[in-house]
Amino acid sequence: MITPGDMTSAKDTILIVDDTPTNIQVLAQALMKKYEVKVAINGPAALKIVMGNEKPDLILLDIMMPDMDGYEVCRRIKQDAGTRNIPIFFITARDEVSDQKKGFDLGAADYIVKPFELALVMARINVHLRLKRKTERLEKLASVDGLTDIPNRRTLESTLARECRRSMRNSKPLSVLMIDVDHFKAYNDNYGHGAGDECLCALAKVLEASLRRPTDFAGRYGGEEFAIILPDCDTDGAMKVAEKIRTRIASLAIPHAFSGTAAHVTVSIGGKSMLFNAETSGDELLQKADQALYLAKEQGRDRVIILDSADSVYSI
Ligand code: GH3
Ligand code: MG
Ligand code: MG
Repeated sequence: MITPGDMTSAKDTILIVDDTPTNIQVLAQALMKKYEVKVAINGPAALKIVMGNEKPDLILLDIMMPDMDGYEVCRRIKQDAGTRNIPIFFITARDEVSDQKKGFDLGAADYIVKPFELALVMARINVHLRLKRKTERLEKLASVDGLTDIPNRRTLESTLARECRRSMRNSKPLSVLMIDVDHFKAYNDNYGHGAGDECLCALAKVLEASLRRPTDFAGRYGGEEFAIILPDCDTDGAMKVAEKIRTRIASLAIPHAFSGTAAHVTVSIGGKSMLFNAETSGDELLQKADQALYLAKEQGRDRVIILDSADSVYSI
């Protein structure tokens, strides 16, 4: 979602990497009028900036530098998933076709030979910044649920697969909670689909706000079902998080006169915690959590059921 903050904030940042920055002073001065400009005078300094918290939006990279040349800097930036999408322009006096080809093979977005035509370089930078923004928007659309703005099922499944592998590597339990709104069909039928949508958005916010660790994950599983992934969390921990979520949702006190369970919107939550080995899978974990959810519905809704390692109902 684009917030007003995003619209007004931040000029794009361009990082210039050159051991003799005076070489490209004209370019730097022109860039400063439109962009935030950072300068690094060698490869390691450039990598430090790029791997830091405030990543540049585009990099102008000299090739011939002592210690670490531009090709190596580029290789390292393209190796890292967090920096791979930053467009890199090689900017160099080397005009051999083979040099340029090598640059593109390493993943460069463009290759500029000195001396350059300033207006053209500016135009090419502009094109690549626009493309980068568009790609980021598409990637976000593909991973986020359009209604609630939390991760969608696709992201949920890839996160679960990653966390299963991590659980196996670290021998730490992984928990999953499945959350389903009670009597939501009646809510829609009586208050309208628009109100139903608003209700789902409010619940998604509670889920996100209820997670404490950076690796905890909430996503929309589909319809009025959500899932939570809790790495390094055992049965007891899963129970506590689930109870917190159930209570917080109830205390939103969204009126639901047609619920049959309470006078407000409630959820049922099923959960399962597992230690992974080569024989277990994320699907199994989801299935077990879904079984627990079914039990929670059957036993009267507005409750949490967590299955322990023997698949018995866990109680504190
Ligand atoms: P239970 O307590 O057993 O969970 O009953 P329920 O009515 O919640 O379950 P059911 O599966 O019968 O109905 C789910 C309802 O959720 C039906 C569907 O219209 C509604 N729903 C699913 N996705 C959306 C959505 O994106 N927006 C809105 N407004 N409603 C949705
Ligand atoms: Mg359902
Ligand atoms: Mg439901």
